[in-house]
This record gives sequence, structure tokens and C-alpha cells, in this order.
Amino acid sequence: MSNVLWGIGRNYLDHAAEMKAETPSQPMVFLKSYACLTTTSPLRLPPFSKEIHHEIELAVELGENFQPHRVALALDLTARDHQQIAKQKGEPWSLAKSFIGACPISPWIEFKGFSWFNQLSFELKINQQLRQKGQAQNMIFKLPALIEHLKTHFPVKSGDIILTGTPAGVGPLKSKDKIEAKMEDQIFWSLEVL
Ligand code: MG
Repeated sequence: MSNVLWGIGRNYLDHAAEMKAETPSQPMVFLKSYACLTTTSPLRLPPFSKEIHHEIELAVELGENFQPHRVALALDLTARDHQQIAKQKGEPWSLAKSFIGACPISPWIEFKGFSWFNQLSFELKINQQLRQKGQAQNMIFKLPALIEHLKTHFPVKSGDIILTGTPAGVGPLKSKDKIEAKMEDQIFWSLEVL
């Protein structure tokens, strides 16, 4: 059985507001194929979209008994043009969220507890300009609530990854962009767009 990337939408108030979306009353879950994960740079943006947005997120890998095992930064890349079409038509987000290379991911660090996680802050710069800045404590649904919701409704298993949502500041990537992301002084990650 293969693993799954569980995406959480609109989990930060400021991002829900910039998308003019309602604040969810329970976690909004979508799927990305596990095969979307990539650790290679430069990124290749898919030719079918004119608007691939960066969404920097804390990624949590689950171990046994739904316990968080490792943490990384991930880019929940989103073909915003196709997502808007899908929203208008009421169709699934697969093309917008689960295309080839749609989830670049940083090196992992060990999970050090829920209170440690809740204090984490992270940011994304593009060409040295700060674009996104987030704090886990501003998540609408915190990590324990996300895990509880997922395991109650979905076949979550060891090795699955939760993409916990993005703060405000999402925007398009373009060729030659230099992306730098960090989480505290614990993860430093850089990559480029082809
Ligand atoms: Mg996202």
C-alpha cells in the first residue's frame, strides 16, 4: 500500500481571507499523490498552467499509532488558474493540486512534541523578498485536531504526510525564481525554478 499526502486547505485565517474563502468549520481535506513529492532543484513548472502558486507549509510525517514522527517544510504547489475553474464548476482539485512535481519538500527533522510544534514559525522568500510568514499557533485547526479528524474519517497510516496549511502571501512562481524557506534555525531550504 502506498502512502498519501493529506492536504489541509484554509487553515490560516489570513490565507482564507486573501482567497475570499469562508473559514471552515472543520478541517478541509484534499489529497495530493505521494508521488508528487520531490527533493530536486530546479523545479520544473508544468506547462499546462500559467499560474503556479507557492504555498509554504509545515509538513508532518506520521509514525506508528498516528504519532508525528518528523517535520519538514513543503511547497503545496497549486495551479491557481485550474483551481479557480474547478471551484466555479464544482469539480475536484486534482489537476490544480496533484500534478507532477507538485510537492517539493525540504530535509526532515525529528518531531519534538506538540507544544514544540505549536511554537514553530516559518517563512518563505522569493528572490530575497519575504512573501510568506507563518506560525503554527495561528493554525485554525491545530495539529492534534488535524490528526484526530483525519484518523476518524480516512485510512491514515504510518508514513503518511499532513500538509498543515499555508499562511497568507501566496503568489505565482516564475522561471529563474530563487526560493528560500526556513523554519526557525532548524530547517534552511533553498531551491530554484527552472
Ligand atoms: Mg496548501
